[in-house]
Amino acid sequence: MMASATLKPRHEQRILNGHLWIYQGNVARLDGEPSPGDIVDVFAADGEFLGRGYYNPHSQIAIRLLTRVKEPVDRSFFLRRIQRARAWRARVMPDATSYRLIYSEGDLLPGLIVDRYEDVLVVQFLTLGMDARREIIVEALVEAESPRAVYERSDVPSRRYEGLELRQGLLWGELPEQPMVIRENGLSFEIDVTGGQKTGYFLDQKENRRSLAPFVPGARVLDVFCHNGAFAVHALRYGAREVLGVDSSEQAVQSARRNAALNGYTKSAWFVEANAFDFLREMDRSSERFDVVILDPPAFAKSKAHFEPARRGYKEVNLRGLKLLHPGGFLVTCSCSHHMPADEFYRLVLEAANDARRPLRLVESRGQAKDHPILTGVPESAYLKCLIFQVLE
Ligand code: SAH
Repeated sequence: MMASATLKPRHEQRILNGHLWIYQGNVARLDGEPSPGDIVDVFAADGEFLGRGYYNPHSQIAIRLLTRVKEPVDRSFFLRRIQRARAWRARVMPDATSYRLIYSEGDLLPGLIVDRYEDVLVVQFLTLGMDARREIIVEALVEAESPRAVYERSDVPSRRYEGLELRQGLLWGELPEQPMVIRENGLSFEIDVTGGQKTGYFLDQKENRRSLAPFVPGARVLDVFCHNGAFAVHALRYGAREVLGVDSSEQAVQSARRNAALNGYTKSAWFVEANAFDFLREMDRSSERFDVVILDPPAFAKSKAHFEPARRGYKEVNLRGLKLLHPGGFLVTCSCSHHMPADEFYRLVLEAANDARRPLRLVESRGQAKDHPILTGVPESAYLKCLIFQVLE
C-alpha cells in the first residue's frame, strides 16, 4: 500500500489554493513508513484527498505535490508533463530555439529545471524526490525532445538542504564543444553550459531584452551587471549608438566582448570588469552620462533575513544609475529576488528617484519570460521584476 500523510486540521487551505509544498509542521500523521524520496498520498484532516507527492524527512518541506489525481508517478507521467510544458512554449514562443523547458513548480514539476539550448538540454535536480527519479526523467526527456545531449548542472547550493551533494556532468548523448552558440530574438550568443553561471545563460530576460527596442535608437547605453552582454547586444541590434557593459566576473566580460563581435558589433561595444558599485560612483564623478541605463543585479536578497541589506543595495544601485541618465533618458531596472516583492521594489526605485531628484514616468512594468510560468498558488514561482522608467526632462 502507498504511504500517506494526513495534515493537521485547517492546514489544507494553502494546498487547496494551489501551493505544492507541505511543511513538516503541516503534517499530523504519516502512515506506511515512507522512505526518503518515496511517493505519498496527502489527505486533509477530514480525509479529503489533496494530491500525491514525494517525501523528504530531511527537508523543511516534507512533501512536494506532483499531481492532484491518483495516477502513477512513472516515466509516462514525466513524459506527459514534459510534453505539456513543451506545448506551452510552442504556443507562447513558437520561434524560440532556446528556452526554459521545465520551470519547476511553474510546470507542476517541483524541483526540476530543464533549459533547452538549441539541441542541448541542461538539467537541475534540486530536490531528493527529483534526484531519486533522475533516470526515468532523463529517459522521458530523451524521448520527448530527441536532444543531442543531456547535461546536468545540479551544482546548486540549495541541494544541501535536501541532504544532496552537488553534481555536474554529462547524463546522455554527446555534448557539443563548449562554448556553444545559441540564438535568441534573432541574435547569437556564445554560452558555456559546463562552466557558465547557473545553466549558462539567463533565459528569463528574453522578453525584457526585446522591450528595449523603442528606447535605444541612437542612444548611448550603460548595461550594468551585463554578464555575457545579452542586453547590450540587443540594444545595439535595436539601434543604440554605443554600449558600455560592466560586470565583476572576468569570464562574463570576456564572453560579452565575444558576443558583441559575434553579432558584428566591433566598434560600438565596450565591456569592463569592475564592481558595479565602485564603477557607478566613478562614473558619477566623471561627467559621463547615458541615454539608457540597464540595471540587472544578482539576487541581493537570497532569503527573508537578507531583506534590509538587500533593499539598501538595490536602492543604492538605482540611485547611482539614475544619476547617470540624461534628462529624458530611460532606466531599465530589474530584481530577480523573490524576497523583494514587486510593490516594494517599485517603491524603492521611487525613493532613489526622489533622493536623486529625478522625477520619473513609469513606461512599463514587466516580469519573467513566459517560459518561466508563475503559479498564483505558489508565490515563490514569481521572482523577476523589470521596470522601465523615463527621467522627466
Ligand atoms: N544582465 C545579464 C544577467 C545578469 S546576472 C543578462 O541579461 O544575462 C548578474 C550579473 O552580475 C552576473 O553576471 C554577475 O557576475 C554580476 N555581478 C555580481 N555582483 C556584481 C558586482 N558587485 N558588480 C558587478 N557585477 C556583479
